[in-house]
Amino acid sequence: MYLRDYETFPVQVCLETEPDSFTIKYDGLSGVSQVKVDLKIQKADEEYFCQGIVRAKVELECMRCLDKYNKDMKFKTGFIICSEAYHDQLKEEAEDNEEYVFCYGNEIKADISEAIRQAIILAVPMMPLCSEDCAGLCTKCGINRNHKSCDCQTEVIDERWRGLMDLQQEEN
Ligand SMILES: [Zn+2]
Ligand SMILES: [Zn+2]
Repeated sequence: MYLRDYETFPVQVCLETEPDSFTIKYDGLSGVSQVKVDLKIQKADEEYFCQGIVRAKVELECMRCLDKYNKDMKFKTGFIICSEAYHDQLKEEAEDNEEYVFCYGNEIKADISEAIRQAIILAVPMMPLCSEDCAGLCTKCGINRNHKSCDCQTEVIDERWRGLMDLQQEEN
């Protein structure tokens, strides 16, 4: 995903990937079908402050039943675009806790793919579940209990995780 040169600021930009063209390698994230980014770009000196919303259609792998399922993610993103030279100059003054994307040439031509990729990875749930009451896999025969039932005598499998999941759900 590329940002190009603009003449007046602030500017509102909408970027969209071609279907299935954006790839991310990350555990539990098995595919990304589409990413849309709405950004507001404000210029100050040599820096371009970008704030916006990312919408991503992703395919996740359920941690309980290992089935793949689709999820629409929507979250905020923010980063700063500037030239590498300008950033080096800044470094001496400021602490580096903002995310930077470097642009090149005389225009702001910057590849924001990596910043968006990192943002999506951060937004992926730590314990993805196809549904809150996913029945998971049978611990004895391995059958997916969302689709089939079996006669095995087992305890409910992940009581140990319950506390953590409640925490995660509260965050969402
Ligand atoms: Zn599941
Ligand atoms: Zn079973």
